[in-house]
Amino acid sequence: MNEHSPVREIKGIGEKTEMLFQKMGVYTAGDLLRYYPRTYDIYEAPVPVSELEEGTVAAVEGCVFGSVQVSPNRKLQTVSALIRDLTGTLKVLWFRMPFLRNTLRSGSRIIVRGRVVNKRGGLVMEHPEIFQPVEKYQEKLNTMQPVYPLTAGLSNLTVMKAVREALEHIHLQRETIPESIRQRYHLCEYNYALRGIHFPADKTMYMYARKRLVFEEFLEFLLAIRQMKEEKETSVNGCRMEKKQEVDDFLSQLPFELTNAQKKVWKEIRKDMQGDYTMSRLVQGDVGSGKTIVAVLALLEAACNGYQGAMMAPTEVLARQHYQSICEMFEKYGIPFRTELLTGSMKAKERREAYERIETGESQIIIGTHALIQEKVNYRNLGLVITDEQHRFGVRQREALAKKGNMPHILVMSATPIPRTLAIIIYGDLDLSVIDELPKDRLPIKNCVVDTGYRETAYRFMKKQVEEGRQCYVICPMVEESEAMEAENVIDYSTMLSERMGPEVTVGYLHGKMKQAQKDEIMEKFAQNQIQILVSTTVVEVGINVPNATVMMVENAERFGLAQLHQLRGRVGRGAFQSYCIFMTASRAKETKKRLDILNHSNDGFYIAGEDLKLRGPGDLFGIRQSGLMEFKLGDIFQDAGILQMAAEAASSEEIREFPVYGRTDRDNIHVL
Ligand code: ADP
Ligand code: MG
Repeated sequence: MNEHSPVREIKGIGEKTEMLFQKMGVYTAGDLLRYYPRTYDIYEAPVPVSELEEGTVAAVEGCVFGSVQVSPNRKLQTVSALIRDLTGTLKVLWFRMPFLRNTLRSGSRIIVRGRVVNKRGGLVMEHPEIFQPVEKYQEKLNTMQPVYPLTAGLSNLTVMKAVREALEHIHLQRETIPESIRQRYHLCEYNYALRGIHFPADKTMYMYARKRLVFEEFLEFLLAIRQMKEEKETSVNGCRMEKKQEVDDFLSQLPFELTNAQKKVWKEIRKDMQGDYTMSRLVQGDVGSGKTIVAVLALLEAACNGYQGAMMAPTEVLARQHYQSICEMFEKYGIPFRTELLTGSMKAKERREAYERIETGESQIIIGTHALIQEKVNYRNLGLVITDEQHRFGVRQREALAKKGNMPHILVMSATPIPRTLAIIIYGDLDLSVIDELPKDRLPIKNCVVDTGYRETAYRFMKKQVEEGRQCYVICPMVEESEAMEAENVIDYSTMLSERMGPEVTVGYLHGKMKQAQKDEIMEKFAQNQIQILVSTTVVEVGINVPNATVMMVENAERFGLAQLHQLRGRVGRGAFQSYCIFMTASRAKETKKRLDILNHSNDGFYIAGEDLKLRGPGDLFGIRQSGLMEFKLGDIFQDAGILQMAAEAASSEEIREFPVYGRTDRDNIHVL
């Protein structure tokens, strides 16, 4: 067996399991080895009963106190016991295990480990694992069990077994990092790292394994970036554009004046497109700073110069939104160009017709999703490509779009607040423009962090806002286990909220499992204010612009990364109305409060990213990932800024240039930025 063997060849994997793995993008044994755990279940030392916290998994050591009870409920037979230590007494429940009544003796010492929940005002541990005699816990103490991303039908145990098999039977891999570099940065060997990431013996092994793999991820990324930069540096502007009066006329007709920051950035872009070299520019601007209009100006200028311009968005909803707003503007201000929408969910016939108009040049401006880079799309004369919300794309996707033209200008838009020092590394191949100012008419968003006791108050507040003509978002808690459950959750929540709000308020919902047409319909209705409250998962996170929405309420705010919460908050405060953001949390943990307080006190994405980083510190590897920010598999450019720095150094070293493996790296797999 080798890296390329299909997963089916691994002992214990049959056809059914293979299909489940494939669903998760695992086709070969190599894929499996790089299917890293999402987190680890760590058997920590027992804690005193008085220090237990709701919502956590913990171990408690104590004595069984009093008699063990079996509830008469037939449907779900429950065994309950009390465990007592010097600091207090904890109620413990087991389901469908009536025999425990005979094995748990009053007065005996025991360690139980399980989830602590709040039931009718008191803490209860549900269905814990039992360690008796207590010495048995020693064996497990500080071990880390991998927890993998799963799908319905695929259990954690199945994945664990398969990975273990693969690790045992696959031939050792050749080292991919030169020895001297490994020595310099204290990086462990590749095969050791693979074992350590899946089955770490302890935290130290895990840290070393992870460091090595993150380093490699960054290194490959940086080498790819550098290669692109080298290719580009010599590229003479083949799509030279002139300043067109039509664009200035269009600009003067807009209902608002550009902010100074927008003006400055637009000037930079314009200058690039007229200049001697092809443009590669990143526009960075916080949520709501008005990046779209700058992109539209660039597209318009390209079209006026006789070129096609394309803009790629990460989701269909966002692509459609851009398309619609451009069509509306062009119609209103008498702009003669045809705009085309291209997405994956279009019918075959529609798509064929769109392809044709793109190929003949009948359409000058093309907006879409990944569909823009499909093989079958041929552009007539693509002079400008834009990727919106760049952090959602891979470097190669950005390149793929550019390859559709003959060295077109490249513009990249991102709301990710990356500190300048990091940005220079990560976007090494791009020039940087920053929109560091919000439109003048904006009122700062009012924030609050509240516990679930305020839910009713929040609902009343939302109802009042709706009565005043405004709209609201509610973000439902994430359910990590499965998308299906998440969908159910959103539906239940919206039914509940709809009843609570009464017939005058229309509540709609949105989740990842819905068909594209359904999603579009819901978004359209929300944009038209036919839906006043939208209950959603984080699918609304990127880009959505409904300026009439003024309330964002996030349930279980503690489960999200700060940057992600900041993006969600960015869905409101996009118009002239006062907007509000309600972060709701059931957690009473001090850490949570501290984290959320950062958001409470600032609306500045850069500041938030910086504070978040300080608070977590480089050692906090089990914290919430900045999910949705950068699609590195393991690395997190904020948390691993130190490793990124090392990798950047290594990427420009002589040893790397001479190391043969880097011809081998499959760069198409680099899925970052
Ligand atoms: P983002 O930077 O998050 O992509 P958008 O481009 O979607 O933000 O802009 C958010 C909203 O601000 C839009 O409704 C847009 O029309 C509006 N807008 C953009 N620039 C200005 C401006 N200079 N003055 C007032 N409103 C603006
Ligand atoms: Mg945007």
